[in-house]
Amino acid sequence: MEAFLASNPYFSAGFGLIGVGAGLSLLRTGGIHAISLVQRRLLVTVEIASRDPAYAWFLKWSADLQLKQQQTNTNSNKSLVEKLLQSNQLSLETSFRRASPSNAFNSTLSSNTNLKSNSSAASFALVAAPGRHVFRHANAFFLLERARDKGMLNLQTGAPFETITITTLARDRHILLSMLEDAKSAALKEEEGKTIIYTSYGPEWRPFGNPRRRRDLRSVVLDDGVAEKLTTDLHAFLRNGAWYHDRGIPYRRGYLLHGPPGSGKTSFIQAVAGDLGYSICLLNLSERGMTDDRLAHLLANAPPQSMILLEDVDAAFARNRDAKQEGFQSMVTFSGLLNALDGVAASEERLVFMTTNHIDRLDPALIRPGRADVIVKIDNVTDSQARRMFLRFYPGYEALANQFVIKIRPFFGEKSSDGDSDELLSMENKRCSPAALQGHFTLHRDSPEDALLYAEDLVGKETSN
Ligand code: ADP
Repeated sequence: MEAFLASNPYFSAGFGLIGVGAGLSLLRTGGIHAISLVQRRLLVTVEIASRDPAYAWFLKWSADLQLKQQQTNTNSNKSLVEKLLQSNQLSLETSFRRASPSNAFNSTLSSNTNLKSNSSAASFALVAAPGRHVFRHANAFFLLERARDKGMLNLQTGAPFETITITTLARDRHILLSMLEDAKSAALKEEEGKTIIYTSYGPEWRPFGNPRRRRDLRSVVLDDGVAEKLTTDLHAFLRNGAWYHDRGIPYRRGYLLHGPPGSGKTSFIQAVAGDLGYSICLLNLSERGMTDDRLAHLLANAPPQSMILLEDVDAAFARNRDAKQEGFQSMVTFSGLLNALDGVAASEERLVFMTTNHIDRLDPALIRPGRADVIVKIDNVTDSQARRMFLRFYPGYEALANQFVIKIRPFFGEKSSDGDSDELLSMENKRCSPAALQGHFTLHRDSPEDALLYAEDLVGKETSN
């Protein structure tokens, strides 16, 4: 029998094939093990999740590197391999905020120094596109993989939407570290002396556009003592963390600034943030997809050293009432907002600023201490404000500033002490907003004399509500 099997050509061929198959599969498994061993021994990989601040830093840094290399590539004598490895895959990241169709939440970001504008705003950034990129830096090669997580979004934990993995040879790990350092310093340098604006993105806060130049606190001219009152309170709050913690009181403070439009509410908050070196987290309660849970999560997880800004709080709920009609999909309820404001803040401290043009429309529950601890009216210009604003635009022109105040006093609607207030108040236009004054001075930026001469032009230049 044995002799038969040995001499049977079909059997021995089959046996041979099995042997070859087994050998190949052994080789394959061995190969895989060998590759992973080599990978483990020779390569080093770093993964960065999108919720990590280093994520945005590194994407931006690597895109800048790509752009720089592309510029030098065209006229350099790089090898063909290097040119082939050179990735041209950049993706455009647009941060966009749409202006609301009605008055509420028109606080879109524009690229100028002011937070507010009535139009929509967008900012662009070029970053490495999703996929694989090979790039060369400091004589080492790197593989950058940007992967989008298409899985479900965890609203509670803020699970990452994306990750980037950077792989290089183990011997070049120090370059990898120094690259991350460079990305960090480049980002921090960009932020130096600037205010970062965050907007909510799903359950996360993400920087909106590039950081903005800090606004000088003195450039917002409020009535006598108003700015001092607010900043003194704010500084006292920030100094007294231990006092709150010792007594088990939630370490948070709410500020409500109310008054007519164009009086400097938003500008003041922006300037205060700049002064403290804080970021601003813009929260739009009417945003599509905003829910009570998301709101509570966002309020409790604001980035460190930031203040949350809720603009035109009165309008959010007025709008929600006819949400169906206007097609809005915000699901935030008034009690959801109250709960979010009352919730235990996960962050070290929590600063919430609210603004409204109509304090009378606010539910008393919202302006209770604990939710709005400090309520300040920011009003139309007073004599003192107009004078100080004049001098900021035209330093040294004291006499003209005084004449200007006397000339525009009829527009103030302020009861003046010289007894002719009734006549003044009966004039059609009794208000003059700082925004209107700013516009007037900007128009006559080179001539304080013209600013005085054409002061009457301010009549009727009201800021629209
Ligand atoms: P509000 O938030 O009260 O509606 P903003 O802060 O948006 O007003 O101001 C609109 C514009 O008017 C900004 O460009 C700002 O520079 C200017 N402005 C308003 N109030 C003041 C002020 N008190 N001092 C200096 N500029 C002001």
